[in-house]
Amino acid sequence: MKKWTYFFGAGKAEGDGSWKDLLGGKGAGLAEMTKIGLPVPAGFTISTEACDYFYKNGKKYPPELKKEVAAHVAKLERITKKKLGDPKNPLLVSVRSGSARSMPGMMETILNLGLNDHSVTGLASVTKNERFAYDAYRRFVQMYSTVVMEMPKEDLEHRLRAMKGRLGVKEDTAVSASGWKELVAEYKAHFREKTGHDFPSDPIDQLWGAIGAVFGSWMAEKAVTYRRVEKITGLLGTAVNVVQMVFGNTGDNSGTGVCFTRDPSSGEKIFYGDYLANAQGEDVVAGIRTPMHLREMAKAMPKVYTQLEKVRVKLEKHYRDMQDMEFTVEDGTLYMLQTRTGKRTPAAAFRIAVDMANEKLISKEEALLRIKPEDIERLFYPVIDANVDRKSLQSKALALGINAVPGAAVGKAVFSAQRAEEWAERGEKVILVRRETSPEDVGGMAVAQGILTATGGKTSHAAVVARGWGKCCIVGAEKLDIDYTSQSMRAAGKVVKEGEWITLDGGEGVVYTGDMPLVTPELPKSYATLMKWADGIRRLGVRTNADTPQDSRKAREFGAEGIGLCRTEHMFFKDFEHPEKSCERQRAIQEMILADNKEDRVNALDRLLPFQRRDFVGIFQAMDGLPVTIRLIDPPLHEFVPHERAKQEELARELKIDVAKVARRVEQLHEANPMLGHRGCRLCITYPEILEMQVRAIIEAAIECQRSGVKVIPEIMHPLTLDRKELWILDQATRRVADDLIKKAGVKLPYLVGTMIELPRAALLAGEIAEVAEFFSFGTNDLTQTAMGLSRDDAGRFLPDYVDEKKAGVFAADPFQSLDIKGVGFLMRWGIENGRKTRHKLKIGICGEHGGDADSVKFCHAIGMDYVSASPFGVPIARLAAAQAVVEEKQAAKSKRK
Ligand code: PEP
Ligand code: MG
Repeated sequence: MKKWTYFFGAGKAEGDGSWKDLLGGKGAGLAEMTKIGLPVPAGFTISTEACDYFYKNGKKYPPELKKEVAAHVAKLERITKKKLGDPKNPLLVSVRSGSARSMPGMMETILNLGLNDHSVTGLASVTKNERFAYDAYRRFVQMYSTVVMEMPKEDLEHRLRAMKGRLGVKEDTAVSASGWKELVAEYKAHFREKTGHDFPSDPIDQLWGAIGAVFGSWMAEKAVTYRRVEKITGLLGTAVNVVQMVFGNTGDNSGTGVCFTRDPSSGEKIFYGDYLANAQGEDVVAGIRTPMHLREMAKAMPKVYTQLEKVRVKLEKHYRDMQDMEFTVEDGTLYMLQTRTGKRTPAAAFRIAVDMANEKLISKEEALLRIKPEDIERLFYPVIDANVDRKSLQSKALALGINAVPGAAVGKAVFSAQRAEEWAERGEKVILVRRETSPEDVGGMAVAQGILTATGGKTSHAAVVARGWGKCCIVGAEKLDIDYTSQSMRAAGKVVKEGEWITLDGGEGVVYTGDMPLVTPELPKSYATLMKWADGIRRLGVRTNADTPQDSRKAREFGAEGIGLCRTEHMFFKDFEHPEKSCERQRAIQEMILADNKEDRVNALDRLLPFQRRDFVGIFQAMDGLPVTIRLIDPPLHEFVPHERAKQEELARELKIDVAKVARRVEQLHEANPMLGHRGCRLCITYPEILEMQVRAIIEAAIECQRSGVKVIPEIMHPLTLDRKELWILDQATRRVADDLIKKAGVKLPYLVGTMIELPRAALLAGEIAEVAEFFSFGTNDLTQTAMGLSRDDAGRFLPDYVDEKKAGVFAADPFQSLDIKGVGFLMRWGIENGRKTRHKLKIGICGEHGGDADSVKFCHAIGMDYVSASPFGVPIARLAAAQAVVEEKQAAKSKRK
């Protein structure tokens, strides 16, 4: 028969630290500590399987659970020699939740369960302390009411304040037994009024109330959101820990504390923590009194401190990781109440991993596994100062969107790219707020501190461009009502007008009104050490997606080994080295698009040629000695021409043509479905002169660089190919231009011509396409869009429902962020296998946004890619993930052999 409940106590435990999935982290920790001989109060854990059963069976408990709990209560009573509800010597217990992963948002602790009007007198007489007993009782009623019954805390707190006022005392410690008695009666009356029934006096009823609340908290909004944000999936549920109470508030020889085996902020190897004398656990958390540092505790209670220090050493050696421990001292006796892997700042994560490897506590490979992608991300980006009061921050929340690029940004709201540039010119910090962005907006996006859009998902234009720059970006903030006419936005009953401060938290996807203070963390020394270890072990190459010399340089600093995708279209709009010249580029491309004959088109392209060539020179120089993959024009042409009447008039004036002609051309370019329209390499099939200009710019730049001693390795890439013949035509045209230039220059310049694989047809026919292509680069933004039939620009509206466990929960993660391994991954695997059947040494990479997502990088390793390409800030994540893939692969092979 299935077992649902597990006991620990008196040096024995059913289970150990490795049973996290079944007992939750807390339960497994208690079992383990009991087994290794640490002083742990006895108790039992109701397993996560019981929680799983509860949810799979219409919130009913397994039929055997009642009996099992009763048997374990009896066992606990035997071991502790106390009885629940006993009016002479009552057993009291704490009830706490605990899943395999520590999870804020689930139920907090209930202490002192088992107290009622009878047992409280027993507690008073055993402890010879009536005041203490009634204080414990009122705490229990208060916790039960707020935590189990979810009554507002404030309703009870204000009764407590009023009572202290009546008694004329300030500190809780000064309240007399009768004061607490009075308060218990008041709380109970309040309970009756709010719930319509009496406060449960039977300890077993109390216990079941608490168990129900713990299971219920597993699906609470906060917990579900936390799991989604942290990408925690596959857990059965929460366990329930029922543990004998020990008391830290029986006098000055008692107390309670929280400590870490190393400093969780810096990672330094020091014993770090707080202790509060004569107090129960929640007093430390509530911050009612200022706790003392462990150093002071060492002086006040040297014996207990020495014992605690020994526990610290034992636990860290045992778990081989930094531990976060809770303990209580009852009349000079130490009890360990919890141990778990301690949460730490990103800087501490690096320091602890490297230090522990150097101390030989863990291997270098394990050290690599200890770092999470978020740890790296959070090392580089500014964040809202943790000192900002959380409550006041909450009150300023304006809207919630999709956290496209982490970090935080503060600036004045502006609602057009042009205004952003004007304001930035005046030295103002701005946040660009748009319904969505397009290449037209890159100028304004470049000068903004952060970008906010009301639509779009993680691979929308705004997200992709901002990620490339490491610029904080929130997209898909659907609730924002943006009004371009009045230059304002509204949400949550607030209005933000142009020029008013807003703050973006790109990590959480929250928009706040006002300007919050930001802090940028310092890069720890151990970062460089750990990344060196990662580079020494990984097989996958790591390149970057960069369109400008600045980004290329930055990516190189981050460890990029080449460019995997240089998108050329932004160069048509913005001159990043000489912004004042941006206008000339824009006009030339617009003239090219408006031209109604080849000659005019070629003339306009000739004007663009020197700009592109100069950009490529800068990029080749920055990437001296490393490969640079340059992709020819990709977006539909309508994205390059203005849609607003005023801007069309301005363009017509400048080009000295009729505005009707501009409007007509814009109208002609309109497509019902532009993402599946005239874009990608289809543009160069129709307008080969664009290809000729771009290839010329690339090869001329390469020749110029080579002549000046720069080592260039150009790779010319055609986007969105769907057929072998299509690619063959483009390949021939590319080689005609390139070979002619190389021949005329009399130089030797090897280059490659390849394609992106962004369409299911291309992946399916990879074997044929590889007859022409010298390399493949998986454009998984478009491949996800086309394989799944989900628009990358619009799916942000409903995809959250697909990821939300409480709604549909179809996917574990947003497929535009983390590869859909089942579907899109299937096409990739097929494409690689068949591509390499044709061309054995076919070079293969990925340049979609997934190249910077750790799980996706690991998949790319597994299917035998040569490299991944990520935005500059994604490069370190990819380097680490590529190394972790190797370690995990080794571990899997080892456990298979076993
Ligand atoms: C892609 O589709 O994955 C890609 C890299 O190209 P883009 O995002 O520019 O469409
Ligand atoms: Mg694409």
